[in-house]
Amino acid sequence: MNTDNHYDAIVIGAGPAGLTAGIYLSRARIKTLIINEGTVGGQMILTHEIANYPGVENISGYQLANIMKKQAKTFGCDIKSNINIEDLDLKGDIKKVVLSDGSFFTSEAVILSPGGRSRTLGIAGEDNFKGKGISYCATCDGDFFTDKEIIVVGGGNSALEEAVSLTKYAKKVTIVHQFDHFQAFEHAVEEAKSHPKINFVMESTITAYHGQDHLESVDIKNLRTGKTVNFKTDGVFIFIGYVPNTEFVKGKVELNQWGEIVVKPDMSTSIEGVYAAGDSIVKRYRQVTTAVADGTIAALAASNYLHEIKAKHNKLIEA
Ligand SMILES: Cc1cc2nc3c(=O)[nH]c(=O)nc-3n(C[C@H](O)[C@H](O)[C@H](O)COP(=O)(O)OP(=O)(O)OC[C@H]3O[C@@H](n4cnc5c(N)ncnc54)[C@H](O)[C@@H]3O)c2cc1C
Repeated sequence: MNTDNHYDAIVIGAGPAGLTAGIYLSRARIKTLIINEGTVGGQMILTHEIANYPGVENISGYQLANIMKKQAKTFGCDIKSNINIEDLDLKGDIKKVVLSDGSFFTSEAVILSPGGRSRTLGIAGEDNFKGKGISYCATCDGDFFTDKEIIVVGGGNSALEEAVSLTKYAKKVTIVHQFDHFQAFEHAVEEAKSHPKINFVMESTITAYHGQDHLESVDIKNLRTGKTVNFKTDGVFIFIGYVPNTEFVKGKVELNQWGEIVVKPDMSTSIEGVYAAGDSIVKRYRQVTTAVADGTIAALAASNYLHEIKAKHNKLIEA
């Protein structure tokens, strides 16, 4: 097939996973289109500074995203951004993606890399203080809170493990949790409870954020007594769950109970010719480096798949 709207591979999502897949595919002379519903870069563009991407120092997420985008385009990758997917047909040899402007694109292979989002408390001001005192990633932002007093919200394994890891930086960590017990493994609860830098405010939740340019304090409401107190803090880390952006592929590829895409080690999904990479797949550690690694594997596996179906097709013609 050789038409303007037919590609060898379509990548859905232009975060680090999708951009990396685009770089590898295009460099292998595979005609590739990346479709992204927002601004190219994904969660990287929400990140003031990415200090843990190997080989690059003092770079903003926005800059890193733009370098990856430029690299993909240099190799000939087409990118369509700020557009929504209306319909997606992943069955059969030729996959079809219909966009909100009525245009459609087809391909033999698809890589899904739509990323995800941290669950928020949904309180007014949360968006304004993101990166200015509110964080959803201890690995990414812990260092910015060296010798500070911080709050961790949540009561699951992530909240307790991240609270303990944040004690490497912060001088005091207060865990705020809505219930009187934790939903975490006993050893994680014990480790947090026995840590000298960690305090607990149970049966409570944050109800308001206060500050000028940076978060300065929060209101904490005791859910049993109804009493609210103002609590001074340098930062709040929220670990109350993660939501993969996979609603649009529900029923089209296998997802686990949390909506994460189930992949094999080569990033192939339950559907032939469909691969997935990055924060949207079943995995534990979600970072730019891990997304980039997944994107690489998915692109190499998709290249191999395209090579195999082309060889099969040529054999049929010869026969
Ligand atoms: C505030 C913050 C700070 C962080 N700091 C760091 C850090 O310092 N270091 C680090 O390594 N990691 C950091 N991370 C984590 C890192 O950004 C993510 O792990 C990484 O971006 C995941 O890459 P991804 O490509 O899988 O997904 P994403 O970056 O989420 O990109 C997915 C893209 O897909 C698009 N998309 C979603 N649904 C659709 C759809 N239906 N159709 C088309 N497009 C779609 C989205 O618009 C988005 O552009 C941070 C995350 C956050 C939120």
